[in-house]
Amino acid sequence: MSSVDEIMAGYPAQQADQEAFYKDLHRHPELSHAEHRTAAAVATELDQLGLTVQTGIGGTGVVGTLAHGRGPIVLLRAELDALPIAEDTGVDYASTVTTTGADGQQIPVAHACGHDMHMSCLLGAARLLGGQPQRWGGTLIALFQPAEETGDGAQGMVDDGLYQRIPTPDVALTQHLLPGIAGTAGTRAGLFMATEDSIKVTIYGRGGHGALPQDCIDPVVLAAMIIVRLQTIVAREVTPGDTVVLTAGSVQAGTRSNVIPDLAVLQLNLRTFSQATRARVLAAIQRIVRAECQATGSPKDPEFETLGTFPLTDNDDTSTARVAAAFAAQLKDNALELDRQTVSEDFSEIPDAAHVPYCYWGIGRTDRDKYLAAEKAGRLMDLPSNHSPKFLPPLQPTLRTGTETLITAAMAWLSAE
Ligand SMILES: [Zn+2]
Ligand SMILES: [Zn+2]
Repeated sequence: MSSVDEIMAGYPAQQADQEAFYKDLHRHPELSHAEHRTAAAVATELDQLGLTVQTGIGGTGVVGTLAHGRGPIVLLRAELDALPIAEDTGVDYASTVTTTGADGQQIPVAHACGHDMHMSCLLGAARLLGGQPQRWGGTLIALFQPAEETGDGAQGMVDDGLYQRIPTPDVALTQHLLPGIAGTAGTRAGLFMATEDSIKVTIYGRGGHGALPQDCIDPVVLAAMIIVRLQTIVAREVTPGDTVVLTAGSVQAGTRSNVIPDLAVLQLNLRTFSQATRARVLAAIQRIVRAECQATGSPKDPEFETLGTFPLTDNDDTSTARVAAAFAAQLKDNALELDRQTVSEDFSEIPDAAHVPYCYWGIGRTDRDKYLAAEKAGRLMDLPSNHSPKFLPPLQPTLRTGTETLITAAMAWLSAE
């Protein structure tokens, strides 16, 4: 029996509590930067488990520390926030929560990215490690960050003096529900998740009657030209094999068919795996937008606004090899190597701020039978993805696996053997 097996032997006794805690979080999601109830629930739980708790870091951030003799310092991270999505899963613990936006509109809220699962797994891992102090030595830091979905929560904790409040860890570890079979876990050394830039572009025309285009400069046609031309960046300007995604996720112009509007607004989303490629594509976007505006006779220069950015997730080779070896030993056939992911994360801001090596891994989000049936039918794309109204990982084995992976990875440093 491995020391992880001995620690996991305590799992069944706390499973019902963990599932109830998860369902409660799932029923009570809160948007980024407003995770007050969630942070309080996490802090109460950490306190009851005997960790030293600090709250209100970078807004609602919570850290629990459990020091147990000499040894490595290991930081494990989870996220507090949920998404502005109306849940459509049909389970009895589905969210029906809405909140009032800045404009007075009601916004639905749901844990459609699994952060409730991540929190419950981290609390379960802290509980089980805390219950078996003879099996490990060192310091466990359980960190719960706000606002991962908006990309500014991790940096917010760093800017609020995180490293004046906690010791600098030897390694930082985190996990996320990703495509795959529930019960599996996988990681990858080196580049693992993309950078993200979200960019608003405003382009100008001259509006008028829809029947008199000769008197107007049509920003709708201009927007169409730009969107098509932007496709040539990935096809013609990026080195083949260098992964880049450029999506125009929002196009807004005009109000009715017989009026040519004055302007159009595009929202572009860019994912890259290197700062050099990122800079090159951002420059190409600017060049193409400006040139198309000029070609159309646009009366005013286009405007560019960065709405948000995410950093690169670049797993430390040595730490990731250690985690992967521990997963292989513990999870056997359920330990995988994952492909690079074109989604993005702000977790790396925390280790990068203190030059700490890190490993990020994924845990499968889909019931095994459902996944295999979809795979057989060539319909994996039909399975609900993160951020889908139908996103819902199976309660088990996901909670158990997510708890076991955190313990397994942490014990790769903390094991007293
Ligand atoms: Zn997330
Ligand atoms: Zn998400």
